[in-house]
Amino acid sequence: MNIYCINHKFLYETEKLLFLFLPFEKNTCLDTFCGDDGDYFLTAISRSGEQVLFKIEFSYNGQVRSGEKSLPTSQCTDEEYELLSLSYPILKESCGFAPEWGMLTGVRPSKLMLNRIDELGEDGARDYFTNRFFATPEKTELAFSVAKTELRIIKESPENSFSLYVSIPFCPTRCSYCSFVSHAIGTESAKKLVPQYVDKLCEELEFTSHRVREAGLRLTTVYWGGGTPTTLSAEQLDRVMTVIEDSFDMSDCFEYTVEAGRPDTITKEKLLVLKKHGVNRISINPQTFSDGVLREIGRCHTAELTVEKYRDAREVGFDSINMDLIAGLPTDTFDSFKNSVDKAIELGAENVTVHTLALKKSSTIVTENERDSVNADNIAEMLAYSRQALTSNGYKPYYMYRQSKALGNFENIGWCKEGKECAYNILMMEEYQHIISVGAGAVTKLLSPGITRIERVFNYKYPFEYISRFHELLEKKERITSFFSEV
Ligand code: SF4
Repeated sequence: MNIYCINHKFLYETEKLLFLFLPFEKNTCLDTFCGDDGDYFLTAISRSGEQVLFKIEFSYNGQVRSGEKSLPTSQCTDEEYELLSLSYPILKESCGFAPEWGMLTGVRPSKLMLNRIDELGEDGARDYFTNRFFATPEKTELAFSVAKTELRIIKESPENSFSLYVSIPFCPTRCSYCSFVSHAIGTESAKKLVPQYVDKLCEELEFTSHRVREAGLRLTTVYWGGGTPTTLSAEQLDRVMTVIEDSFDMSDCFEYTVEAGRPDTITKEKLLVLKKHGVNRISINPQTFSDGVLREIGRCHTAELTVEKYRDAREVGFDSINMDLIAGLPTDTFDSFKNSVDKAIELGAENVTVHTLALKKSSTIVTENERDSVNADNIAEMLAYSRQALTSNGYKPYYMYRQSKALGNFENIGWCKEGKECAYNILMMEEYQHIISVGAGAVTKLLSPGITRIERVFNYKYPFEYISRFHELLEKKERITSFFSEV
């Protein structure tokens, strides 16, 4: 579809709004309009004397709908909002449905809710969601409920504390929806990188521990993500975990998570290593309990293997296990998604994180044009079922975020049993704590007092670059020391 943005700079926001209604549309952006016989979306802002004029035209399926409004310049404090809120009902009418989050496109609805509660009070914050951004009452309550839980965890987080994030950017194979920088270790070149990567990671951990000690920071949570950390061997896991214990003061660390996401990387030996080093929360991610869908998305394990590894983890003594599921996977149906939710509940996972499939540009689904296998029609039903089933089995939503390009503009929700919230997920997602990160692709986030500013230090993205430019990376990491000496 042609998108015409005339005389304004809100192209990105306009495209994001259109995506809520037409996620599979390929768009061409233009800034002049000389008539168009096809489908198009035109937004324009102009000024006449003391008036600002907003104009919309949306041509879709042979019908053209339009809207205009003008405001005195003195009252026009938010042109972006005026333009998008004029567009929203026109897109809604033309496409025949209303997105459940209304016009909200940001990735952190619960953070927005927390900020609005602070500014406007609880009723004002709800009103802001439903009347200004047209979110449904259900989504508004979801954001409200998550925000209240998050607030409790945020308040419990001690000042000057930080979480340590360890990135392991390797996986057994690449999932078709993956947009992370993760290397499939099935290839010889990637496999060869792993030992060198582990060496550098240990060095970076030691180096970083000196910087945080100088800054007087206290470690409260550790999170290993990626990739799939359990792609490392038991010996490699043991070595890196020993370096962490020897380098950092672990006495305030109350949560230690390792994503053992792919069941085909888990062995009893590795689970015992994790247990020995005080890991108290792991993820074993089915994504789906349908073998057909698993094959379709390029994961070479079965649903049965997920159950087997889950039972192994219980035997080893893990009492806080997360399971990730995804709604909208290629070839998945409502019934098979329902079965996946039921199975995770039946197994008794303490956390169930329900994601909505996001069509990221770098994923195989998009690059190899496999979009036809994605059925976006019943995502709302799938998510509604997960909400009802999890709620009635004692789970509550404790953290939430949205990804750009998520089908239907829906969210990812972390559900947990009472007292089983993952503090790291909340503190990291809502940006309430320093995150000190190590490994390829990792991003360190340093917060100024009062969180008025967030500074990011980016590690090199790809493992080969991380290894070959390691000295430059350490120079960048010196910023941790200078940041804290300035604030
Ligand atoms: S397990 Fe996660 S990181 Fe690894 S390929 Fe699949 S989606 Fe990507």
